[in-house]
Amino acid sequence: MKPPAFEYLAATSLEQAVAALADDEAKVLAGGQSLVPMLNFRLLAPSILVDITRIPGLDFVEGDGDGGLRIGALTRHYTLETSALVQTDFPVLSAAMNHVAHLAIRNRGTIGGSLCHGDPAAELPGLALLLNAQLKTTQRTIAATDFFASALSTILAEDEILTEITLPALPPRTGWGFEEFARRSGDFALAAVGATVSLSGEEVSEARIVVIGAHDTPLRLSAAEALLTSRSGIAAAAKAAQDQVSPSDDLHGSADYRRHLVGVLTRRALTAAWQRAEGSAP
Ligand SMILES: Cc1cc2nc3c(=O)[nH]c(=O)nc-3n(C[C@H](O)[C@H](O)[C@H](O)COP(=O)(O)OP(=O)(O)OC[C@H]3O[C@@H](n4cnc5c(N)ncnc54)[C@H](O)[C@@H]3O)c2cc1C
Repeated sequence: MKPPAFEYLAATSLEQAVAALADDEAKVLAGGQSLVPMLNFRLLAPSILVDITRIPGLDFVEGDGDGGLRIGALTRHYTLETSALVQTDFPVLSAAMNHVAHLAIRNRGTIGGSLCHGDPAAELPGLALLLNAQLKTTQRTIAATDFFASALSTILAEDEILTEITLPALPPRTGWGFEEFARRSGDFALAAVGATVSLSGEEVSEARIVVIGAHDTPLRLSAAEALLTSRSGIAAAAKAAQDQVSPSDDLHGSADYRRHLVGVLTRRALTAAWQRAEGSAP
């Protein structure tokens, strides 16, 4: 199908874009990889699309000088996948990008667009939770934990634009794992789990687990995280992860199947994270 008729504004500044969004029926256009299909299916009928891709200063990946990263909202998925800085400091992020759709879509899709679209099966919202991201907008700074309201819905106001994502440094001796199951390469995940394990001596100083595709938002699994006090806790944490999610049935898989996947993927992600934290895996 073709999209309904709309006006188009190629904004050249954030001020101009925000002013245009005062129209209730206006929509931000970034990479268009989620918005344009929704227009074509006539799930949305905005009066005007406010294209933000010509606004300077929103496409960058920079270190924050303290081991963390600052990422502009217009940074493409492909940049996150291939940036040497991301690969070195946040390898879980570049590894997860490889699971997003296909190269053509990763070349156009932006981190800001993916977060604002808020698909519970998308990788970037889950990664934002896993990495304790702070999301800077034209109005405020929002912790990723507060950002996602429900499936395809965030707490952003209609005239608010996401401008920057900051990732604080990971603790020393942090290993990571990212495990996803999709029916075909490039499909949205039936379920995916990202994990980090930080070690201090033989002790776990911090464990983080996030699940994607098994809830109406990405979900941090705090009960499972708390069980990971030693390597032998991986099985119990995986079981707790499985018990903590309440996925729904759909034509791609039953709730029971997804719950089972969450258990398996959590065990694999934590094992990989542990091995990387202790230096026995690259
Ligand atoms: C065939 C196909 C397969 C895909 N597979 C996957 C997959 O496996 N995993 C995955 O994660 N994604 C997948 N995607 C989605 C893709 O990653 C999109 O690029 C991404 O979800 C949206 O980014 P975008 O820049 O294209 O945003 P757009 O489509 O331009 O916008 C998406 C939404 O966010 C809003 N928006 C965009 N930027 C901002 C901003 N800075 N501030 C405020 N609001 C904003 C828009 O108004 C719109 O509501 C797939 C897409 C397609 C077409």
